[in-house]
Amino acid sequence: MDFDLDETASMVQASARDFANKEIVPRAASIDREGKIPRSILKDLADLGMMTLALPEELGGADVGTVAYSAALTEIARGCASTGVTMSVTNMVAEVIARFGTDAQKKQYVPKLASGALVAGSFALSEPEAGSDPGAMRTTAKRDGDHWVIDGAKQWITSGDFAGVFVVWARTGGAGTKGISCFLVEQGTPGLSVGHHEDKMGLRGSSTTALHFEGVRVPETALLGELNGGFKIAMMALDGGRIGIASQAIGIAEAALGAAVDYAKERKTFGAPIADHQGIQWMIADSRTELDAARLLTYRAAYLKESKQSFSSQAAMAKLYATEAAGRICDRALQIHGGYGYVKEYDVERYYRDVRVTRIYEGTSEIQRVVIGRGVTG
Ligand SMILES: Cc1cc2nc3c(=O)[nH]c(=O)nc-3n(C[C@H](O)[C@H](O)[C@H](O)COP(=O)(O)OP(=O)(O)OC[C@H]3O[C@@H](n4cnc5c(N)ncnc54)[C@H](O)[C@@H]3O)c2cc1C
Repeated sequence: MDFDLDETASMVQASARDFANKEIVPRAASIDREGKIPRSILKDLADLGMMTLALPEELGGADVGTVAYSAALTEIARGCASTGVTMSVTNMVAEVIARFGTDAQKKQYVPKLASGALVAGSFALSEPEAGSDPGAMRTTAKRDGDHWVIDGAKQWITSGDFAGVFVVWARTGGAGTKGISCFLVEQGTPGLSVGHHEDKMGLRGSSTTALHFEGVRVPETALLGELNGGFKIAMMALDGGRIGIASQAIGIAEAALGAAVDYAKERKTFGAPIADHQGIQWMIADSRTELDAARLLTYRAAYLKESKQSFSSQAAMAKLYATEAAGRICDRALQIHGGYGYVKEYDVERYYRDVRVTRIYEGTSEIQRVVIGRGVTG
């Protein structure tokens, strides 16, 4: 057993770290304040191969595997959680198309996501009345000659206002999870419009929007995977996506712990740096231990995915543990800053807000427990 990253993953991690330190960290506070990631950062990420890291080279991907992807995403999210989630969802969308798409669909979209010609991909599953329970979705796709016509609404869609391509789930059959299919819809398709922009607590640089579908006509060739086979595609995509969100949470927590340690060494009370007080050291020790445990669980899930073994439960465990541990780590980091942790002058205030959503999207903590529990009890 080898706990070190291999040469390729180390190189990819170093490249992401270098880019994050130079281009993202200095702009993260303004990305949060202005509520927008500069498009140049997303284009640079594409140029570095970060938008399609685990995708095959013939589709423009970097083909470095899931462990390297996790390591790189952690570095980008350490710099800016909003940029991290944009990268995570785009990689997930490219992977879904590469895995379930026809040759024509793969060639049409994946190289453009890889190059940044399409700035981002969006994953449009959730609806106002269907989040944890996508089988309750109401959006429909009805056949009309050699086209499908999509009607309905999606909610909470990351990058919904600027993504070039949307993977959209809609009901094509009966009720429940068996009557759902998946479609590829391009930005600008008539009838597709962007709705409400969510005014979020954290992750403010990442746009989260509603999408409205009013008679959106797409050709038959826009169907991704099998008719009525969309639910399975969503679940498989989310298994992989959870490794991404675990990695994002680890990145935010790494930034928070680093800030807490730096602050603890400088801030003095009772004639000594607070880092010398045992109460503070214990908080730092707990955070370091939980962060390492989160990383090991996440690398295990990534390794299993990369080596084509089953990884659904392990990805759920990684996401559950990493996001909950990251929440505790950001909370302790804020506490170590005292009053200064509660104001925007210090980055921990942002980390604390950003980390919260990692326990909610791509399956809440409760839904991860459902997945893990089913895996254990069969
Ligand atoms: C910032 C942000 C970005 C997002 N990006 C996307 C995106 O790009 N694409 C997309 O499709 N969606 C996205 N989402 C949606 C996200 O995945 C959902 O919010 C999430 O799945 C929860 O769904 P819900 O909000 O409808 O909560 P609900 O499903 O209504 O759940 C409410 C509560 O009940 C709990 N609960 C539900 N069912 C059970 C159960 N069986 N057992 C125990 N507890 C249960 C939940 O854990 C939660 O605590 C995003 C959300 C946010 C906040």
